[in-house]
Amino acid sequence: DVAHLDGFDHHEQVWLGRDTARGLTAIVSVHTTVLGPALGGTRIWPHMSFEAGVIDALRLSRGMTFKSAIAGLPLGGGKAVIIADARTEKTPAMLEAYAEMLNALAGQYITAEDVGMTLADADFLAERAPNVSGTTKGGSGNPSPFTAEGTFVGLKAALRHRTGSDDLAGVRVAVQGLGSVGWSLCQKLHAEGAVLTVCDLDAVRTARAAEQFGAMIVEGNAIISADVDIFAPCALGGMLSADTIPLLKAKIVAGAANNQLATAEDGQRLVERGILYAPDYVINAGGVINVAAEMADGGYDVATVTPRVARIADTLTAIFQRADREGRTTDAVAEAMAREIVEEARK
Ligand code: NAD
Repeated sequence: DVAHLDGFDHHEQVWLGRDTARGLTAIVSVHTTVLGPALGGTRIWPHMSFEAGVIDALRLSRGMTFKSAIAGLPLGGGKAVIIADARTEKTPAMLEAYAEMLNALAGQYITAEDVGMTLADADFLAERAPNVSGTTKGGSGNPSPFTAEGTFVGLKAALRHRTGSDDLAGVRVAVQGLGSVGWSLCQKLHAEGAVLTVCDLDAVRTARAAEQFGAMIVEGNAIISADVDIFAPCALGGMLSADTIPLLKAKIVAGAANNQLATAEDGQRLVERGILYAPDYVINAGGVINVAAEMADGGYDVATVTPRVARIADTLTAIFQRADREGRTTDAVAEAMAREIVEEARK
């Protein structure tokens, strides 16, 4: 019984896969399969404890339920966490052990990339297990460009809602994390004249951003208090908390990272500071929209993906408007919308 770890939700199933000889500790969490098979990436990350890994998997899989429901996809919510440092502990033997676990779960959980799991890893797993999406061989490939595009149109929708215009020229945006999504987002923002402030743990990436986009570089948590109009978190989650929200100067938070709010109360804290928050699992749905297209009759066709990703802007606008109307936080409205969709299907 892991429900107590997550506060309130009952996940359908949680599995532990452990093979100490091959260095695998994996948690696969299926939140719901009401709308379809549970799909979500595998995160390879050195969590501080086993419990931290379980909680991450529970939260991320619940987020996948909400994400797919709001994006109108016939998919449930699942996610896997492998507790390991992807740079030093991810070995072929470990991935082979994980592939055996995926085989055992076939039909119940479909995986894809997430932080720490690369396209090459997806291809490696797909040679050994049937339930791997987002591969290069016959799959939809790298989801990140679609996530970045969805985040970009979502950020513009937030700007429009807030100011009446989505013209990015001269708008100051702080991007935290210059990985697959953050970098691509910076390219799009720069192309439309936004003024960038960036940070990353990797100094090579920040130096490149300074060179290519004229971005200002800040260190660590200084990105939170950067003097900007929009904060775009594109690293890991939990950066919006009771400690950090008072420091924000941005009036909009719109970025791709999963689980941005450290606690449920942080949505309210943002409202109290007059900050418009684009719920993470709504704005970052571009990747799963792309992966889901693999399951369409007739196979993957990118032409079906682009208009669906563009619709993220309309979905967010509807959420912002409903939040204003009902006097609720945007994340509460998004969650209510997702739960309504799931409950309707359950009936
Ligand atoms: P990535 O691993 O390619 O990039 C993450 C970047 O963040 C790296 O450059 C890393 O050095 C940096 N970083 C990590 N911690 C940091 C910190 N404390 N401060 C500054 N930089 C830090 O990951 P990605 O695929 O770009 O994903 C970014 C976020 O978006 C993640 O939260 C991920 O779950 C989420 N997301 C990604 C996708 C996708 O399609 N890739 C889809 C949905 C959500």
